[in-house]
Amino acid sequence: MDLESLVRPNIRAMKPYSSARDEFQGDARVMLDANENSLGSAGPEQFNRYPDPHQRAVKAALATLKGVAPGQIFLGNGSDEAIDLLVRLTCVPGQDRILILPPTYGMYEVAAHLNDVHLERLPLTADFQISAEATAQILASEAKLVWLCSPNNPTGNLLHAAAIEQILRGFRGLVVVDEAYADFAAAPSWTTRLAEFPNLVVLQTFSKAWGLAGLRLGMAFASPAIIGYLNKIKPPYNVSEATQQHALAALHDAPRFEQLRHQLLAGRDWLAARLPALAIVAEVFPSDANFLLVRFRPDATAVYDYLLARGIVVRNRTTQPGCAGTLRLTVGTAAENEQLLQALRDYK
Ligand SMILES: *Cc1c(COP(=O)(O)O)cnc(C)c1O
Repeated sequence: MDLESLVRPNIRAMKPYSSARDEFQGDARVMLDANENSLGSAGPEQFNRYPDPHQRAVKAALATLKGVAPGQIFLGNGSDEAIDLLVRLTCVPGQDRILILPPTYGMYEVAAHLNDVHLERLPLTADFQISAEATAQILASEAKLVWLCSPNNPTGNLLHAAAIEQILRGFRGLVVVDEAYADFAAAPSWTTRLAEFPNLVVLQTFSKAWGLAGLRLGMAFASPAIIGYLNKIKPPYNVSEATQQHALAALHDAPRFEQLRHQLLAGRDWLAARLPALAIVAEVFPSDANFLLVRFRPDATAVYDYLLARGIVVRNRTTQPGCAGTLRLTVGTAAENEQLLQALRDYK
């Protein structure tokens, strides 16, 4: 892979915005360089200063936790920001293309359309793995990016590591492995393989196992060269001071993270053990995530509407390729899981 040839020429050539916080980083007594309000803030808390554009404190804590260097970390306003920036970094609108493997996360497609980038769909197999045919097409493709979601949303399964590795070795573009659900999976993260693959980008998020979806904080891990380009094109203050402070506190609360993770895994196992006994359940797909994809008979949408009428909202995936008759059920609290199961038992 030649990174420079993957990056859009205008981005290679451009000079990034240099913020007041880039140009002066020391501890001055009088800060009159950024048109902030030195008097204070409206509201209960002080947020009158711009945040660290490089999120150094959060990255230092994350680097230790993940076993990577701070220079291998990009932080964004949710993974969604990283997804959009990766498309914009590499794809010339109206010209370049990206590859997705449906059924998968919808934001890859939205980011392609938003940026006027061609999209090629290489469907997963019936058991939601990468087919030999798809692998061959990826390896032969001139696309700038391929999105691999593992564990995959909405199917819940990990993609086979051997197939991902083959793509990492042979594809000429960037290989983005979206690990939003990695904390629920019994497999090592691809962040452990970054040194081997200069074309690898791993996405993770604070929205799932960390329980911080409302905060909007996503992570990308890659070579310092790729991370440097993402930092070059991001909005300078893309992660707020409130988010940085809260994320730092969360990272220092590892026991709570572990407790949440284990409770969700127990809830997943509890539901997975009971759902197959229901007459309306045709199949519960194996999950390495915090949700279960379930095939219902005879009519999943009728089950969806019934649950909604009982005040329980799940995700209807019936129109996704390979997902006919399925609903995606997020694992909730023990009480929510019981309500869901009881409602499904009562379905007539
Ligand atoms: C939930 C999810 C994300 C997280 O997105 P955020 O913007 O970080 O909340 C990313 N990728 C996939 C596949 C997801 O399901």
